[in-house]
Amino acid sequence: MSTSDGRLVIVSNRVAIPEENKPAGGGLAVGVLAALRDHGGIWFGWSGEVTDRESGGPDITTIGNTDYATIQINRSDYEQYYNGYSNRVLWPVCHYLLDFIRYDQADFEGYRRVNAMFARKLMSLLQPDDIIWVHDYHLIPLASELRSAGIENRIGFFLHVPFPAYEALRAAPGHEYLLRCLCAYDVLGFHTPRDLAAFETCIREPVVGAEFEDNRVIRVPGGKLIADVFPIGIDVDEVRGMAEEASGTKRVKKLVKSLDERQLIIGVDRLDYSKGLMQRMLAYERLLEKYPNSQRLVTLMQIAPPTRAGVRAYDEIRNALEQVSGRINGRFAESDWVPIRYLNKGVARVPLMGFFRKAAIGLVTPVRDGMNLVAKEYVAAQDPEDPGVLVLSSLAGAAVELTDALIVNPHDRDDVADGLATAINMPLAERKRRYESMIEVLGRNDITAWRTRFVDALRNGG
Ligand code: UDP
Repeated sequence: MSTSDGRLVIVSNRVAIPEENKPAGGGLAVGVLAALRDHGGIWFGWSGEVTDRESGGPDITTIGNTDYATIQINRSDYEQYYNGYSNRVLWPVCHYLLDFIRYDQADFEGYRRVNAMFARKLMSLLQPDDIIWVHDYHLIPLASELRSAGIENRIGFFLHVPFPAYEALRAAPGHEYLLRCLCAYDVLGFHTPRDLAAFETCIREPVVGAEFEDNRVIRVPGGKLIADVFPIGIDVDEVRGMAEEASGTKRVKKLVKSLDERQLIIGVDRLDYSKGLMQRMLAYERLLEKYPNSQRLVTLMQIAPPTRAGVRAYDEIRNALEQVSGRINGRFAESDWVPIRYLNKGVARVPLMGFFRKAAIGLVTPVRDGMNLVAKEYVAAQDPEDPGVLVLSSLAGAAVELTDALIVNPHDRDDVADGLATAINMPLAERKRRYESMIEVLGRNDITAWRTRFVDALRNGG
């Protein structure tokens, strides 16, 4: 396929139309919006609306040089494509949590049907020199659907979750089809070298039978593709600015006052079983048991907004966490101290960055995570003169870059508790040294580097 200077067409499951005075949430939205601002183009995907009728759209909202093209999906699409195959099969498989797989053939058919529908609706908007950048596991078959319909534009795919080893992937019914679909892209991007290596092992299997050329070029049935590592980053200056701004607000000052001189340990995660929340609470309990002194020194604030309500595993983890946090609080609380502040709701980005800045310890311990932007934001939000300490799971993609965090195994309570004890007592000089090394990496691999490198590879072939 030819190189092009055409528009950038971004496709993701959900489209976040920017609202005035409201910062975009999350790395995908921030990165995508900046890329569209630079190149002009279209962001295509689901509006978030579920209809009882046939799926409608695309509806176009134009802001600046970008068209936001949204479609609706109907209730069975939502249940089968989104809740079903995407979130009950692909999500657990990619996070190596095979016990959570709940497969239903009708869901797999729904996944394929909705991807075909996305392709049909997108085609009406495409021009011959557009380049198309597809995001995440919901839309793996999209390029293959577009190719079948005769679309020859360059198409790239970025996976925001881990790519599993073949021994895990093959537990997912339909994995052979998914691997073949991935080969319809021109460029494939992953967060870490491990994800890339896992992908390469999978497509060497006879089901694809890929052959490898130099320079990340892979020969697959029907053509060639480039697969490479593009770790997603953050806008470091923006995060630092938000953290500074929020620090002076009443809300953040009230939080600091309420701590009564104790160090704040902060955890911020969607309420998801991949985030290791149960293991984290038990590790914190271990800290309080093993280092009784810490009971006078710290408070854990866990912010955990619920997601994917209606998927049973998510409702179950919510109940389990309420129980365990209640039990730990009952066991250790004093008349003037509660060990865990458990917030079952989200916090807006600006105050959140202010909370990060005031937290002496960022506790990020997923049992598996593609990247984990919270880890990066926590570091970027710190006061360079008095930075906090990041305690980070070895199983998060971010651990590849943030090697100066205290790296722990989230399954090992003692390891996490010991890491917390080290963080509580870490001298200023060591905190600064670790912070300076990590902020340098974050500046180098920031959100601009991520999307520029990917778009360049897609436009120019690497
Ligand atoms: N986030 C937020 N408010 C919350 C919880 C999370 O703004 O209450 C943001 C957080 O700052 C980060 C994103 O949501 O930018 C979560 O990204 P991450 O990669 O850590 O996890 P994901 O949710 O994508 O698995």
